[in-house]
Amino acid sequence: MSKVYVIGIGPGEEAYMTQAAKDGIEASNIIIGYKTYINLIEPLIKDKEVIDSGMKKEIERCYLAIDLAEEGKVVSLVSSGDPGIYGMAGALLEVKGQRNSQVQVEVIPGITAVSAAAASLGAPLMHDFAIISLSDLLTDWEVIKKRIHMAGDGDFVIGLYNPKSKGRVTQIEEAREILLKYRKKETPVGIVKNAKREGEEVVITTLDKMLEHNIDMLTVVIIGNSNTYIENGKMITPRGYKL
Ligand code: SAH
Repeated sequence: MSKVYVIGIGPGEEAYMTQAAKDGIEASNIIIGYKTYINLIEPLIKDKEVIDSGMKKEIERCYLAIDLAEEGKVVSLVSSGDPGIYGMAGALLEVKGQRNSQVQVEVIPGITAVSAAAASLGAPLMHDFAIISLSDLLTDWEVIKKRIHMAGDGDFVIGLYNPKSKGRVTQIEEAREILLKYRKKETPVGIVKNAKREGEEVVITTLDKMLEHNIDMLTVVIIGNSNTYIENGKMITPRGYKL
């Protein structure tokens, strides 16, 4: 039966991948994805056909997946983390609708970056939180800034995806400036690079000092709410229990 699996592979280490993700890959004839992610799951792919492509080809990858499934193939479209969080699930379903295709699509969730990073930091997401991508490639910066203001004003813990790239360096600076209007400069900030995969780096700092640390596209940043604190090297947002 032709089908497209949109597979969340989690942060990258096999131990953090679900059995459903592994089963989806196993059941597929063809694996499509960005090279870095394909490399992460190499041992699972064995002798399957692999189509890897550059980062800017998301939509082409979706059209290809739908076309191959229409031809009767079972295809896995792999996405890092959770495919439904800034991943390939939305694009694939949009393309399927646009093509008026009847192929079956199954989205398999994965551990998303903020969840992997939170585990390494302690328990920073124990209360309401908002995830915001600082990438303005597909979203107007004005919209992103407004959401940072609202999340700041709402005292949400905030997870920042796509915080900074070689060509996009000012957004994280502006985001911090905005949040300083709503949060103390001592507010705990966790910066995790390569969460739950090889080369993991974990930093716990403050809103004041966060820009002194390395932040890039392999990094997720978690900014505490007004109650978040640091104890024994762990970042904790209280749930509200009376101890
Ligand atoms: N679908 C992915 C997110 C893709 S957006 C997910 O659910 O995790 C890409 C951004 O995710 C990166 O710029 C970075 O901010 C974050 N990211 C993805 N994997 C990460 C990891 N293992 N450690 C830290 N950040 C990660």
